[in-house]
Amino acid sequence: MMTVGRMLPVVSWNRAIAVVGGRRIVIALGVLYVALATGRAFVRIGAGTPLENVLIISLLIAGPGLVLLSVGYRLPTFDIDAEFYETIATWCLVGFGVMASVLVVYSLQPGEVVDDAATILILTALASVAGLAAGIHDGVAKTRTRELETRNRELQFAQTELEETVDRLEEANSQLANSNERLEHYQTYTDHVLNAIHDIFYVLEADGTLQRWNESLCAVTGYSDSDIESMTAAAFVDADDRERVRNAIADGFETGSLQLEAALQTSDGASIPYEFAASRLETPDGEPVIAGIGRDISGRRARERELEQRAQQQQVVADLGQLALETDDIDELMRDATRRVAAVLDNEYCKVLDLDEGSNDLLLRQGVGWDEGLVGNATVSAVETDSQAAYTLANDHPIVVEDLTTESRFSGPELLRSHDVRSGISTIIGPADNPWGILGTHDTDSKSFTDEDVTFVQSVANVLAEAIERQQYQAELEALIVDLEESNERLEQFAYAASHDLQEPLRMVSSYLTLIERRYGDELDEDGHEFLAYAVDGADRMREMIEGLLEYSRVETRGDPFEPVDLEAVLADVRQNLQLKIEAHETEITTGELPHVEGDAGQLRQVFQNLVSNAIEYSGEGPARVHVSAERNGTEWTVSVTDNGIGIEPADQERIFEVFQRLHSREKYDGTGIGLALCERIIERHGGEIWVDSEPGAGSTFSVTLPAVDEELDDRASGVQSA
Ligand code: ADP
Repeated sequence: MMTVGRMLPVVSWNRAIAVVGGRRIVIALGVLYVALATGRAFVRIGAGTPLENVLIISLLIAGPGLVLLSVGYRLPTFDIDAEFYETIATWCLVGFGVMASVLVVYSLQPGEVVDDAATILILTALASVAGLAAGIHDGVAKTRTRELETRNRELQFAQTELEETVDRLEEANSQLANSNERLEHYQTYTDHVLNAIHDIFYVLEADGTLQRWNESLCAVTGYSDSDIESMTAAAFVDADDRERVRNAIADGFETGSLQLEAALQTSDGASIPYEFAASRLETPDGEPVIAGIGRDISGRRARERELEQRAQQQQVVADLGQLALETDDIDELMRDATRRVAAVLDNEYCKVLDLDEGSNDLLLRQGVGWDEGLVGNATVSAVETDSQAAYTLANDHPIVVEDLTTESRFSGPELLRSHDVRSGISTIIGPADNPWGILGTHDTDSKSFTDEDVTFVQSVANVLAEAIERQQYQAELEALIVDLEESNERLEQFAYAASHDLQEPLRMVSSYLTLIERRYGDELDEDGHEFLAYAVDGADRMREMIEGLLEYSRVETRGDPFEPVDLEAVLADVRQNLQLKIEAHETEITTGELPHVEGDAGQLRQVFQNLVSNAIEYSGEGPARVHVSAERNGTEWTVSVTDNGIGIEPADQERIFEVFQRLHSREKYDGTGIGLALCERIIERHGGEIWVDSEPGAGSTFSVTLPAVDEELDDRASGVQSA
């Protein structure tokens, strides 16, 4: 091969073989020898060479050719990489080439030479076969080497991988060791945390036994770890509650979560309300467990109870406030108050003690819980030093007693001692400097009361104080009204008597003035006549005024009972009565639709006659215009009389309603000044009001309010009218 390589440029040789293909070259060489052997045989037989001679020679040539052919053909079955077929072909050709060269060199020697073609063919064919054998050997060797190399590489690769895996394993191992350490650390850490919390931590198995728990469970229940090991969760609650707890746990395993409130029973029999919350988890070996927390909710429960009690107390104060507004019976209010205070504070007794002014004793006026016959009769001292009531009166704040047996401020009184009272709250009803009495609530157990309880009792006492004060005020007011009515009556009687009795001497004055004029009239000079006329006029005016006063004083006493009155009819009467005046002032009176009102028809006619008469009287220059209208306002009517007259200065608009108050001289406008006062009195008797809206020079509107007739009566009244 190396020889051939030197003879030809290796690259081009190899390329030529590569182009043709090593296997094809071997097969072609085989075919060449078989063809040459066959061709020579035919030629020799034709030339008469003996057959056996021809056959033997041809066999010697074709034999190696067939070897080349069949080996070349069967090369893929050899254990040789196809890549090395070129090497085999090269070896074949080298065998051939070497033999050829030997023969050429041999022919150059001067002796006998080999020039027989058959011999040359046999030799080169055998040399080619020898080359083939060497080539196959070389190919097998190369293939092996290649395989070895590949395997080697694979081995190396596998080794590197192995080394890497080992590295990784080592690393993982160290990490594992690390995390194991950490896990242990965390485990201790969580144990610490779980033991540090006040809540109970637990892990329950499906049968209700505890797999794990924290120290709180022992601390709260008083059971030891070994006790707990043999207990189920249900054993921590009251026997009556166990079924419910078991069901809740079973539910928890089924649904995945547990929420439960139950009272935890401690080893010494105490009961603590707890709230449990837990979730279903799985242990590393696939066992389901329930893990969670239990929290003491006694604080929350107490707060809830407290809030509920606050709400109840507020409700009681609100209800009593409402009752105080609705009832006139102060004893009913006190009875209700004592009953409800005792109930809300869960006390056996409650009482209202009544302090009479100047008395040394307080009367048990109302109360609950006390022995029969005591309420309304029993008394406690307001001054003796052993009396809680006396002590309460001496202070300006509520007195709270937790235990009367150890109380140093007082020891009784007898009422409390005889009822085994040990605790309570008492407070003053009314102002501390002028107390009305005491509200006290007591119990036979020693008790501590909260600030809110004390405020509650104080609030109830305030409700009672206000009700009592209001009742006293009401009583005073009623007494005052009675006084006023009496004095009014006396005044009316006086006015009536005075005006009635004045009429007699006045009549005398008038008749003697008439007598003087008739008998001595001729003897009087002009001045005498003038003076006499003044005297007569004065007497007339006085009569008018006395008559007015008389009428004024009789408004209340001589009025008719109220009934539905048709104001249209009243106005018609007024028009008729004022006929002359209306004509004299060329008056135009217009009216809107006028209602029925509840009242005294005679008095109302007087009112509207005065108002319309004034409207005409004070109409000023030119014809008078008067308008009467009405407007409904809920249960009353406002009836107005409007004129286009001289009007009234704002400063005078109040006083014109007073008796004998006039704004003008008699010469200018006639009148006594009692008309509007009378109107006001009558309207007041009807429960209404009278007022004027006016602008000087632009007219006045006098308005009165009168009670409306309810619809039914109204219909009846109009029925009567139309009939
Ligand atoms: P008199 O008899 O004087 O009219 P009244 O009590 O009826 O007495 O009225 C009191 C005073 O009120 C009158 O003197 C008058 O000055 C004034 N007055 C009453 N009605 C009117 C009115 N419609 N317009 C202007 N002034 C009036």
